[in-house]
Order: sequence, then structure tokens, then C-alpha cells
Amino acid sequence: MSLASELLYLLFPNRCVLCGNKSTFLICEDCLSSLNLNFNRCSRCSSPIPSKEGLCSFCLKEKRYFTQGFSLFNYKENKVAKIIELIKFYGKFGLIDFLDCFKNEIKNIDFWGNIDYLIPVPMHPRSLRKRGFNQAVLIAKKIGKFIDKPICFDCIAKTKLTNSQVGLSMNERKTNLKNAFRALNLKKDIKAVAIIDDVFTTGSTINEIAKLLEKHNIQSYFFTLASTPSAV
Ligand SMILES: [Zn+2]
Ligand SMILES: [Zn+2]
Repeated sequence: MSLASELLYLLFPNRCVLCGNKSTFLICEDCLSSLNLNFNRCSRCSSPIPSKEGLCSFCLKEKRYFTQGFSLFNYKENKVAKIIELIKFYGKFGLIDFLDCFKNEIKNIDFWGNIDYLIPVPMHPRSLRKRGFNQAVLIAKKIGKFIDKPICFDCIAKTKLTNSQVGLSMNERKTNLKNAFRALNLKKDIKAVAIIDDVFTTGSTINEIAKLLEKHNIQSYFFTLASTPSAV
């Protein structure tokens, strides 16, 4: 969001944050209905793929420690990227409520019945202090209400301060995240969880957490707001 549009938003709060048209909600109905949920998905990680079925290039090449995942949107859609940017970098928490419009789609995801807890991807305490909130926690709270599942906030901790993953290759991402997470207060009754995050890119972060959980005999699924198409 540019400074000009940020100012416009402050001056005209009754306008859609995405298109600027008049709207009683933060996002207008036209923008909401233009968000596309029906794209071809990798059958394992749900990232957008060109063919109707099959696996994305990462799931074909890499060992995946998660059983299955679901991303609601394609991150390449400008409006989707903008919503996530506004939540993550501009702290517009109220925007999370746009998920209410997709409650049924989210509730219909078929693996919720298998899981015991939701685990939001943790931030390193120093990064958390800097940002002031963890967007994965906000998303997990929303989803938890929809599907009536508890959230484990302190099961996994990020104990290594890592560089930003932006612009890194798959291998660089893996090295960057090596030993970045620790399992802490894992409750004995946990058999399966859904890891929650905002964006699924190559899946390195979620895969690293799933790998850690597998060592504790816990099966992982995941949910993210959006996924980037894998390079094919
Ligand atoms: Zn709009
Ligand atoms: Zn995949």
C-alpha cells in the first residue's frame, strides 16, 4: 500500500481497501466475489498447477513430511497478495474477518476430522517483538472457531533467528531453516495436527515443522491462506 492509498484509507474508511469503491466492509462484495478458489491444485500440497491433477514440481522432487495441505487462494492473484500484505505489514487485523465469507469452503476441507490441534507457525521471539503480532496465530484463531478445534500456541517454538526466505532457492531455504524449530510442550494426546500459516511458497517452513513433529510420531496437515504456483 502506498502512502497515498494509506492516507486515502484513513480519510475514507467506508471504501474497499482493495479497489477504493464505496463499501460498508473493508473489502467490497465485487472484490470478494472475484477471489478465485477454483484452480488446479497439487494433490499433496494444494499449490496451483497447470494440469487438472497430479503433483507440483516440489512434491515430485522433495520429501514431504506433511500428509496433505490446503491453501485457499492462489498468491499470484493480486488481490489475495494485497490482503495478506495489509494484514502482515500494515497490521490491518480486521481484514482476517474476510475469511467469514469462505467459512463453508474452509469447513469442507476433508482432513479437519483427522486432527487434534492447530499449530500456527511460530515466529522467533525477536521477530515477534518487532512485528508485534504473528499473523499465523490470527489465522489459526479464526480457523479454530470455524472447525471447533483447539490451538496449541506453545507446542513448537522458533529458536533460531533466520534470514528472510524471500528470494532464496529451495535448498537455501532448507539450510536457512535447519534446526530453526524446537518441539516444546507437546501434549501426549496429540496424534495429528494442522500447521497454519499465511503463505505456502516452497513449503520449506511447514515441511521443517512436519519433520520435527514426525520425530514425535505426530502426523501433519497444513492450511494456508494462499500458495504460490511451483515452478514447473
Ligand atoms: Zn473492492
Ligand atoms: Zn505439491
